[in-house]
Amino acid sequence: MLRTCPLCGIEKNIKLFGSRAVCRPCRKEKSQYFRFWKKKTPQEREKNRMSRRARKLNAPVIIPFTKREIINRDGLNCYICKTLLTERTATIDHVIPLSRGGFHCPNNAKIACLKCNQEKSNKYENY
Ligand SMILES: [Zn+2]
Ligand SMILES: [Zn+2]
Repeated sequence: MLRTCPLCGIEKNIKLFGSRAVCRPCRKEKSQYFRFWKKKTPQEREKNRMSRRARKLNAPVIIPFTKREIINRDGLNCYICKTLLTERTATIDHVIPLSRGGFHCPNNAKIACLKCNQEKSNKYENY
């Protein structure tokens, strides 16, 4: 019994298909292809992580972004105290805090040092 595989177009023994539509070699290739696609870049993972955090606070996620993107736009100075930071010490500060209805998007994000970022969020919590 032969069957034509729709992917490679080759007539093959039906045993190679099992209950699937495509032959076994094609299935293998396809799963490798999908695995490749599922592998997310670190940037994508960072975007997802920050978006999840925003959603947890019920903040609308308008455009996901990474810290790198904000640094490229604004540079490495804390926007509050102007201290020069490194990519590692820089943190993302939401100008309008997410807990105050701010949006998660690059327009609402600035580079701040950890100290300013924490002081600012403390201030908001004490209102
Ligand atoms: Zn095939
Ligand atoms: Zn600062």
